[in-house]
Amino acid sequence: MEERDHKKLGPELELFYIDPVVGKGLPMFLPKGAVIKRELEQFVIEEETKRGYLHVHTPDLARLELYEKSGHYPHYQDSMYAPIDIDGDKFMLRPMTCPHHFQMYLSKPHSYRELPMRIAELAQLYRYEQSGELMGLQRLRTFCLADAHIICASEEQAADEVTGALDLIEYMANVFGLKLGVDYRYRLSLGDRANTEKYYKNDAAWEKSEGLLREVMQKRGCQFEEAKDEAAFYGPKIDIQMKNVNGKEDTAFTVQYDFCMPDRFDLTYVAEDGQKKRAFVVHRSSIGAIERIMAFLIEKYAGAFPTWLSPVQARILPIGEAHQAFAEGALLQLKEAGIRAEIDKSGESLGKKIREAKGQKIPYLLVIGDSEVANSTATLESRDSKIGELSLADIASKLKEEIITRG
Ligand SMILES: [Zn+2]
Repeated sequence: MEERDHKKLGPELELFYIDPVVGKGLPMFLPKGAVIKRELEQFVIEEETKRGYLHVHTPDLARLELYEKSGHYPHYQDSMYAPIDIDGDKFMLRPMTCPHHFQMYLSKPHSYRELPMRIAELAQLYRYEQSGELMGLQRLRTFCLADAHIICASEEQAADEVTGALDLIEYMANVFGLKLGVDYRYRLSLGDRANTEKYYKNDAAWEKSEGLLREVMQKRGCQFEEAKDEAAFYGPKIDIQMKNVNGKEDTAFTVQYDFCMPDRFDLTYVAEDGQKKRAFVVHRSSIGAIERIMAFLIEKYAGAFPTWLSPVQARILPIGEAHQAFAEGALLQLKEAGIRAEIDKSGESLGKKIREAKGQKIPYLLVIGDSEVANSTATLESRDSKIGELSLADIASKLKEEIITRG
């Protein structure tokens, strides 16, 4: 297990590191790690856009007043950093995106026809974690959350949106090779009526929303556990619990039902009969924090990432000096096709070049010698098998297909 630890593999594979001069819990993504992070973000945007999410961008800090309005301050104060004074006004680094999205919803009136409205963002968040709690990319003081808030016209619509969010989570988890019941499990996290300090007081709303989420889970027909006193302060949630390489379980993604923020922010819509009505809100993350899913994937694949996530997808190995020019042309062709490729220009033997590339877990190798130059081809080899001599166009389209489908 030790050798799969992402804290060890991250710097070894030149993906990220923590620099004490920059600070604890503040990851530095090296070029290869930044490629993986970008690919994951692209995956989120692509898949969510297909499912009707509207991606927006809001600022990393906001006036303290916004968090007082949402109730995150003082409820969430312990996880927030001290206010920043700007021209006598107090600003906070944001610990979550919800208040920003609700405020944006309020920027103009909305009709029932626009709902459900799925407002999404890859949001950089800042949360205080104690020094001892920090752990690689798993627990950080700043991270990027694949976040969204779905404004709904009714409780039924909210229940449908919870189902849709769980479908999305299961789809994306499946692309990562994660199986429900094996790699992750569902937990229905409930409030505690007696604890009015921690939870928003509204017993009827708690009863109703907890029942609603329980019904969604029962309809799905999957196993789930119920946990008291694990809810958000504004409502119950469904947590997707995942184990890391050390066997420690953590909440990876959540879908939350919220009956509190619509009141606080006065979120309304104009119904079919022309009357203003109260909206309902679902908070959800699809793949959670990008950094946390990266930590998980680094440990799962131990560096042998699927092609679409690999920082280098193909390496061209010219056997000798005479094959260099042809290799340069092949590199250009792969790059044109959108494949992340490079050439091994070292003067080493072919055997050594192959061992080196395999050691780095590069998904595809293209060997170029006399016969390949004469035939305008390359001999393709994957991480685990020899594929054979193919035209460069065929190689480019084969790799491209695998990358686009995230196979
Ligand atoms: Zn939220």
